[in-house]
Amino acid sequence: SPGLYIVATPIGNLGDLSPRAAEILMNADLVAVEDSRVTARLLQHIGTKRPMTPYHDHNAEAVRPGLIARMASEAVALVSDAGTPLISDPGYKLVRDARAAGHAVVTIPGPCAAVAALTLAGLPTDRFFFLGFLPPKQQARAEAIAEIASVRATLILYESGPRLSACLSALAEGLGDREAAVAREISKKFEECVTGSLSMLAERYADAPPRGEIVVIVGPPGEAPPATEEDADTALAEALSRLPASKA
Ligand code: SAM
Repeated sequence: SPGLYIVATPIGNLGDLSPRAAEILMNADLVAVEDSRVTARLLQHIGTKRPMTPYHDHNAEAVRPGLIARMASEAVALVSDAGTPLISDPGYKLVRDARAAGHAVVTIPGPCAAVAALTLAGLPTDRFFFLGFLPPKQQARAEAIAEIASVRATLILYESGPRLSACLSALAEGLGDREAAVAREISKKFEECVTGSLSMLAERYADAPPRGEIVVIVGPPGEAPPATEEDADTALAEALSRLPASKA
């Protein structure tokens, strides 16, 4: 039926395309894509060919109204090159405008590198904060890190191989030397997850920038150090001083 379908696609292993995602794609009247070559391969894998139209940061403003209009009578699927659309990928304005126009919006959940990496790292998962890509330039990156230094959550960020070591050093500098993990090539042949302190990992990758796609996971800040006996004495003295003086 007509509307907008947000379809998650594999982040490496084609086996991770869900049967429901395949069915939606096979029946879509139009597939909005980042890179038509990438999506053509996926469609070929499920034995179909569908009309595709590019939707990316550079043309989104111009093509969005036309896509919204088509959703009135057609099933429009949105995919990105890998993983879940809208997550460090275009799409939220398409969803916003589809809703505003009263169209059905349906999501077909599936792979997402951020969540997949979180499940590999062995770091707390109760609260997490997704940062996407940090700014590549040194100062802007340091500022972005300073902004989230006090967030009490595990951090998730995307980074490229050549920038990984510098990014890990900047994180160690701005956050303290927390426990971290580098998850690489998830669901592919050379999947790995390396854990250690930020400074250890920065050193490990300094001379050998890793190939492939990378997610960095950083543990939350440590607990505040336990109060000392001296702190307790000060607190007690303060509390006593606030009691009304006893009448002798
Ligand atoms: N929308 C995607 C998702 O749901 O994961 C993310 C898109 S973002 C433009 C691409 C980044 O995701 C890559 O640079 C890398 O940091 C991360 N990524 C994608 N696939 C990955 C994989 N198989 N292993 C590790 N990281 C991956």
